Amino acid sequence: MSDNVRAIKERVDLVSVVSRYLTLTKSGQGFKGRCPFHKDDTPSFMVSPGKGLWHCFGCGEGGDLFGFVMKIERLTFSEALERLASEAGITLERKGDGEKDRLRPALAEAAEHFARNLTDSKGGRRAREYLVGRGFDEASWGRYGLGYALSSWDDLKGKLGKGYGEKLLLDLGLLVQGKETSYDRFRDRVIFPIYDLANRPIAFGGRAFEGEPKYLNSPKTPFFDKGRELYGLSWARDEIARRQSAVLVEGYTDVLSLHQAGLTNAVGSMGTALTQEQADLLGRFAKEVVVAYDRDAAGGAAALRGMQILRNSSLLVRVARFPEGDDPDSLVRRDGREAIEAALAEARPFHLVFIDALRERHNLADLSGKEAALAEARPFYQGLASLPLRQEIAGLVADLLDLPVERVMEDLGGRRTLRMGEEATPAQERWGEEEVVLALLLRGEATWERVAAYAGPEDFSEGHRPIVEAIAAAGEPFDTSQVITRLDEESARRASFLALAPVTFSDAEKALEDALRHLVREPELDGQIASAREEMRRAEEAGDLARRDAQQRIVQTLLREKKGLRRRNGRG
Ligand SMILES: [Zn+2]
Repeated sequence: MSDNVRAIKERVDLVSVVSRYLTLTKSGQGFKGRCPFHKDDTPSFMVSPGKGLWHCFGCGEGGDLFGFVMKIERLTFSEALERLASEAGITLERKGDGEKDRLRPALAEAAEHFARNLTDSKGGRRAREYLVGRGFDEASWGRYGLGYALSSWDDLKGKLGKGYGEKLLLDLGLLVQGKETSYDRFRDRVIFPIYDLANRPIAFGGRAFEGEPKYLNSPKTPFFDKGRELYGLSWARDEIARRQSAVLVEGYTDVLSLHQAGLTNAVGSMGTALTQEQADLLGRFAKEVVVAYDRDAAGGAAALRGMQILRNSSLLVRVARFPEGDDPDSLVRRDGREAIEAALAEARPFHLVFIDALRERHNLADLSGKEAALAEARPFYQGLASLPLRQEIAGLVADLLDLPVERVMEDLGGRRTLRMGEEATPAQERWGEEEVVLALLLRGEATWERVAAYAGPEDFSEGHRPIVEAIAAAGEPFDTSQVITRLDEESARRASFLALAPVTFSDAEKALEDALRHLVREPELDGQIASAREEMRRAEEAGDLARRDAQQRIVQTLLREKKGLRRRNGRG
């Protein structure tokens, strides 16, 4: 597959494809134009033909040639591949399915292995207790394929590595490529296998008992892209179709608790902002979606944007309201099926919930309160495609603010603010050492070999780790736009931002060294300082003053190094 992608990118010009949808003008080494994905008054959309990337610094969308075609034409990856291949004059060999058939047994075997760990292993005791404590008995473990990943770096690798080879397990996201060697992605986690519509495992979600991230999903693989799947859909599809209604929850345990309680039309968005692909998927089975998030999540900008996407896909959207601090899982466990059914039955159309929130949040007796409410309604109104719905919202807002409806419509439709969920401008965020290292890598100003000598994927935070993993897996020399093809939408946006952001490094080598030293050396130093201090205390207790003084000197040296690190980075 990646050979085809490479060949297509060599033959199809990104700039000319983008130019079919918007006007590009030359700007520095690249081109800029008005973004087709949001209302863009200032050209915020950048294209770099050299890097084969695009990014909008207004709404944060970004990616490679494939990402652009998929997004603007609403295609899946394989549809985009087909279209671009014919444009490039390349005949695709139908080997994709053959390759997938080769990979599939490894996923099934991994699922079985995790399941065995849960039921049989000594280390699985805590997982068993956790699940039983959450109301999932042994029968449900089998029904939903639940499992446990041992607290080990190579349990799964040892089990499947011989038969399938490391490369294949890396491609499936079961292993992670580290500095020197590959290791198990899931360690000491309760495992929730994610199934396709044919009920075959395609990926895994893992929940930690403590530590971060609490939930860890498989990365993008030939089988899985978290923005295109809904957890539990294979079990829920028939009931969803029968009722023409789906219940959308956030987490794995929410889905399972509802199913156990007999509400078998629940599916989970797996903690990401809802995508168009997921809305299309629901639209194949349902006419209506009842959003059942906890109260904080339901009111957030990401959830509202998701509801707009659903509504724009011609689904009716209602929102269930839960008591403060409750989610569907906790409610059904405490108060049983009736409580959750009542909450779902009372769910109200999402635009009415939005209007209620406006009323609650703003003091509408006050001029500035009215202005704030109107400003908040504007992106909500503009993000909706349905004219009758927009009309209804304008009427409700006009009533609320005691203003003439025609003027309210005019104002809501005006080009004043960004669309829903776009208030955060990524370009304004602070650049830490992770950003610096990744930007240098993605711009070709640092090699992976150089970085890997210091840091592996595990040294980066959750949001950046998929990018580092993709670079590590690509090997040297890597091509940034090829790396981005391997990423899920969210990571691709992040990577195109870091590659194209208008930030330059006057001395790339120095920037890299400082950032790496900070990234790896500082946590290391903290550990060494703590243990030297402990030694010091013990020496003093034992009355060994010579040893105490020696340890004190070590602490001082380490502290000096730490101070030096901070100075070089312009902090502290
Ligand atoms: Zn944009």
